[in-house]
Amino acid sequence: MPTLLLAYLVLCTAWWAFEFYVGRRQAACVQRYRDQVPAAFAQSVTLEDHRRSADYTRDRLRLDAIASIVDLAVTFVALLWALDFVTGLVSGWMAPSIARSLATLGILWLCSSLLSLPLSAVRDLGLEQRYGFNRKTPGLFLRDRLKAMLLTVIIGGPLVAGILWALRDLRGPWWVYVWAALTVIMLAAPTVYVRVVAPWFNRFTPLDGDLAARLEALLVRCGFRSDGLFEMDASRRSSRGNAFFVGFGPTKRIVLFDTLLEKHAPDEIEAIVAHELGHFKHRHTLTGALRGIVSLFAMLAVVGWLCRQPWLLPGFGMRHADPALALLLGFMLASAASPVFGLFGRAISRRHEFQADDFARSMVGAAPMVSALTRLARDNASTLTPDPLFSLVHDTHPPVPVRVAHLLA
Ligand SMILES: [Zn+2]
Repeated sequence: MPTLLLAYLVLCTAWWAFEFYVGRRQAACVQRYRDQVPAAFAQSVTLEDHRRSADYTRDRLRLDAIASIVDLAVTFVALLWALDFVTGLVSGWMAPSIARSLATLGILWLCSSLLSLPLSAVRDLGLEQRYGFNRKTPGLFLRDRLKAMLLTVIIGGPLVAGILWALRDLRGPWWVYVWAALTVIMLAAPTVYVRVVAPWFNRFTPLDGDLAARLEALLVRCGFRSDGLFEMDASRRSSRGNAFFVGFGPTKRIVLFDTLLEKHAPDEIEAIVAHELGHFKHRHTLTGALRGIVSLFAMLAVVGWLCRQPWLLPGFGMRHADPALALLLGFMLASAASPVFGLFGRAISRRHEFQADDFARSMVGAAPMVSALTRLARDNASTLTPDPLFSLVHDTHPPVPVRVAHLLA
């Protein structure tokens, strides 16, 4: 086996083994404290709810473990056989062209989408259904999947064709043009998403009444300008509550899930919105976008260089050649270090959550934020007794007990 291929597979397996170990730790930690509500939540969370969170966390970890084994197996099959086989098969049908490269990538994408379908059905219609989170019917689940795949074809197809064209026809650092184009798309995406894509999946209605007036007053107090407050009918798919902000500058919108509005008291909703405003005050959205643009530049520089190296395809043991295959392997190899970057990214995100909580506390006080977080943890069955190493590796948000302790400090 070529050394590069062997090294890549060893790296994938090592990362998988580490994640498996961390998952086992989390399961053990949650199980250990299953019968005892942490002292800080003794007044606000019942033992029954606490056990339900523990069981949900355990079942989800089990499913994640199965998914990661499937992923690892798919990586092995792809690199040892499927990528080369599909490239050879399509080469037999078509002369070298961008259409041929697109056909190769299209077949591979279709295979991986179909492979991920059963586990995702088990997750949504099995696990989430059992704990009362899922509200999707099998029909809606399939319709969502089909719509998402159609969107990938409509948006991804021309995009990949453009990248393949740049790789083939542009002299010098072709990837710089790709980077510039992707950056424009990334900056426009949130606005396009909210106005064009999201309405395809959900209904958005402007918020009105007492709560809207109260939130508008909060926005004024924080010196925040927006394109409006909206309620989204998230309850069609899931019972989980959430809120998010999208867009930049004056086109940004605040979207509250109807499930959040149903379950939380007005002062808790105010605290949640104040937390989101904290992200804007500290420019987390903007710096996050800038970080994304810089990492995309670095990623494409590496991919751009790798794609034109004559050793890339033989290094992975490929007998057939196509620019699509070089692009795919370039991306896979360049992403080999992404788990490490992911750790840094999540550490930054956790720090941002503390800053946003601090801002919320300064605007509405600690109490409504603490009760909002407690209710969210209970309703979403998030564990109150996580393993610290698991949290360090996986969490984009500090665990609720840590955030509550920080708010009350
Ligand atoms: Zn946040």
